Amino acid sequence: MIKIVGNIAHVQSSRKKTIHYHVCYSGILHRWICDCPHFIFRLLDKGGECKHIREVKQYQKEESKNVIYTNANKKCISGD
Ligand SMILES: [Zn+2]
Repeated sequence: MIKIVGNIAHVQSSRKKTIHYHVCYSGILHRWICDCPHFIFRLLDKGGECKHIREVKQYQKEESKNVIYTNANKKCISGD
Protein backbone atom coordinates (compact mmCIF):
# COMPACT_ATOMS: atom_id res chain seq x y z
CA MET A 1 0.00 0.00 0.00
CA ILE A 2 1.28 3.43 -0.94
CA LYS A 3 0.30 6.74 0.54
CA ILE A 4 1.61 10.02 -0.80
CA VAL A 5 2.42 12.66 1.79
CA GLY A 6 3.83 15.82 0.29
CA ASN A 7 6.70 14.75 -1.93
CA ILE A 8 7.26 11.46 -0.20
CA ALA A 9 5.67 8.09 -0.81
CA HIS A 10 5.01 6.05 2.30
CA VAL A 11 5.24 2.39 1.38
CA GLN A 12 3.95 -0.21 3.77
CA SER A 13 6.39 -2.96 4.64
CA SER A 14 5.30 -6.35 3.38
CA ARG A 15 6.63 -8.02 6.50
CA LYS A 16 5.34 -5.70 9.15
CA LYS A 17 2.18 -3.74 8.48
CA THR A 18 2.99 -1.12 11.06
CA ILE A 19 6.24 -0.17 9.32
CA HIS A 20 6.36 2.29 6.47
CA TYR A 21 9.36 3.15 4.34
CA HIS A 22 9.79 6.48 2.65
CA VAL A 23 10.56 6.72 -1.03
CA CYS A 24 11.15 9.74 -3.18
CA TYR A 25 13.11 11.01 -6.11
CA SER A 26 16.10 13.02 -4.95
CA GLY A 27 16.87 16.08 -7.02
CA ILE A 28 20.32 16.16 -5.41
CA LEU A 29 21.31 12.60 -6.17
CA HIS A 30 19.26 12.34 -9.36
CA ARG A 31 17.95 8.99 -8.35
CA TRP A 32 15.23 7.31 -6.36
CA ILE A 33 15.97 6.71 -2.72
CA CYS A 34 14.34 4.77 0.09
CA ASP A 35 15.01 4.63 3.82
CA CYS A 36 14.62 0.89 4.29
CA PRO A 37 17.67 -0.96 5.69
CA HIS A 38 18.24 -2.89 2.47
CA PHE A 39 18.57 0.31 0.49
CA ILE A 40 20.57 2.26 3.07
CA PHE A 41 23.12 -0.46 3.72
CA ARG A 42 23.43 -2.09 0.33
CA LEU A 43 22.00 -0.10 -2.53
CA LEU A 44 22.76 3.50 -1.59
CA ASP A 45 26.47 3.19 -2.34
CA LYS A 46 26.55 0.72 -5.17
CA GLY A 47 23.34 1.79 -6.89
CA GLY A 48 20.13 -0.03 -7.52
CA GLU A 49 16.53 0.05 -6.46
CA CYS A 50 14.79 -1.74 -3.64
CA LYS A 51 11.33 -3.21 -4.04
CA HIS A 52 9.73 -0.15 -2.47
CA ILE A 53 11.17 2.10 -5.15
CA ARG A 54 9.95 -0.28 -7.82
CA GLU A 55 6.51 -0.24 -6.21
CA VAL A 56 6.38 3.54 -6.24
CA LYS A 57 7.53 3.77 -9.84
CA GLN A 58 4.87 1.30 -10.85
CA TYR A 59 2.30 3.27 -8.89
CA GLN A 60 3.25 6.48 -10.65
CA LYS A 61 3.00 4.79 -14.01
CA GLU A 62 -0.45 3.47 -13.27
CA GLU A 63 -1.71 6.73 -11.88
CA SER A 64 -0.02 8.74 -14.63
CA LYS A 65 1.24 11.14 -12.06
CA ASN A 66 4.52 12.64 -11.18
CA VAL A 67 3.62 13.28 -7.58
CA ILE A 68 6.84 12.46 -5.80
CA TYR A 69 9.36 14.46 -7.72
CA THR A 70 11.16 16.74 -5.30
CA ASN A 71 12.85 19.95 -6.29
CA ALA A 72 16.61 19.96 -6.55
CA ASN A 73 17.23 21.79 -3.29
CA LYS A 74 15.40 19.39 -1.09
CA LYS A 75 16.51 16.25 0.58
CA CYS A 76 13.69 13.83 0.57
CA ILE A 77 14.32 11.24 3.22
CA SER A 78 12.37 12.38 6.22
CA GLY A 79 14.34 13.31 9.29
CA ASP A 80 17.17 14.88 7.34
ZN1 LIG B 1 13.12 0.31 0.30
